[in-house]
Amino acid sequence: MPIRPVTGMAPLPVDTPDDVAALMELLQRPDSDTRGLGDHLAFLAGTRPELFRPYQEAVITNMLERFDVNFEDQCLLLGGAPDQCVEHLARRLRQHRSFRDAWALAAIGSAAALDAIADDVRHGGDREEYELCGIWVPPTGPARNRFSPHRRAVFLAPIDKPGELAAVDHPVGLPVDQVAQRPSTTPISWHYLSLRHTDVPGLPAWPADRVHLVGIRAGCSWTLHAGIDDYGRYHSEAITYDEPPSPAEQETYRLLEAPDTGLGSVELRCYDADLVYCNGHIQLTPGVVGTAGGPPIGLYTNPSCRSCGRLMFHVVTVENQIREYGDGWRSLFICEDCQTVACNATGWN
Ligand SMILES: [Zn+2]
Repeated sequence: MPIRPVTGMAPLPVDTPDDVAALMELLQRPDSDTRGLGDHLAFLAGTRPELFRPYQEAVITNMLERFDVNFEDQCLLLGGAPDQCVEHLARRLRQHRSFRDAWALAAIGSAAALDAIADDVRHGGDREEYELCGIWVPPTGPARNRFSPHRRAVFLAPIDKPGELAAVDHPVGLPVDQVAQRPSTTPISWHYLSLRHTDVPGLPAWPADRVHLVGIRAGCSWTLHAGIDDYGRYHSEAITYDEPPSPAEQETYRLLEAPDTGLGSVELRCYDADLVYCNGHIQLTPGVVGTAGGPPIGLYTNPSCRSCGRLMFHVVTVENQIREYGDGWRSLFICEDCQTVACNATGWN
C-alpha cells in the first residue's frame, strides 16, 4: 500500500476529487488523526496535487494548525494559491508570529508571496525561519527560492564490479582522486554520490558535467565548503563543525574506507503512486535513499556561500546508508554564481 499512515490509521483512497473531499471533511473534525491524514496529503502531493487546489484557501485561512504536512509537500499542495491567501498570511504574521504561517507563505511561492516574505523579513520577521526551508531574502527585491520546484526520488542499485562505475550516469563510490583536486591533502575521505545536474530539472546552470556529494571523517554536524576546478573536482576545501571529531572517531572512519565497497548507481524517478508515503517521507520505499531537487529538509541551518553570502541552492539530500559511512542525512548545495559547493551532514531529526 503506498500510503502507510505513521499512526496506524487504516489507509483511505486518495484517487478522485470525491476522495479528496472526504479527506478534507475528516481533517476538519476536532478529533481527526492529523498525522495520519498528513500521510494521505503527502501521497496527494506526490501524485495529483492539482486535486487539492479547491481547498487551498480553506486550509490557509482556517486549518493550518491541523495541516500536518511537511514543507516540501506543502509546496506542491499550496503552490500558486490565490493572492488573497498571501494577504491573509501576511496580515496574520504581522499580528502574531507562527512558523506555520511563514512556511505556508513560503510554500505558495508566487510573486506576491515572495514579495510578502521579503517585506516580512525587512520588518523584523525571522530570516532564519525562511532560510531553513531554502528561501533567501536579498538586500533588495523579492525573496528567492534556492531550490528546484521539481523533485525526484533517489533510487539506489548496487554495483558489484568497480569497472562498471565509469559507465553509469549517477555513480556512488567513486575514488576520492576523481572528485578532489589534491587527493593527498584533501579532507574529503568518502564519495557518496555524483549527479548529472541536468537530470534534476530546475537546477541552475553548472560549469561541470556532474556535482559531487562527499564526506569527511566525522559522524555528523559538519559542513564542507569547496571550489571546483575545470574538471568539476573540489579544491580549497574548508570544514566547519558543531563539534570536531576526536582522533579516535576519525580513526574509526579511516578504517571503514575500503575502496570498492558500497558501490552503486542511482536512478532519479518522478514521485508517483508506487512510492511508500509514511511519516511525511518516502524513505520506506524499497531502494529509496533520498530526494533530489525540492527544498532542503527544513530542520537544520542551510549553508550560505562562503564567497557571496547568499543562501546556497539545494541539490540533493540522501541518507548516509546510500554508501554506509557517518550517520544521518547528507546534503549537497551549490552557489551557481561563485561556482562553490557545500556538502553537509546532519543527524536524524
Ligand atoms: Zn556565491
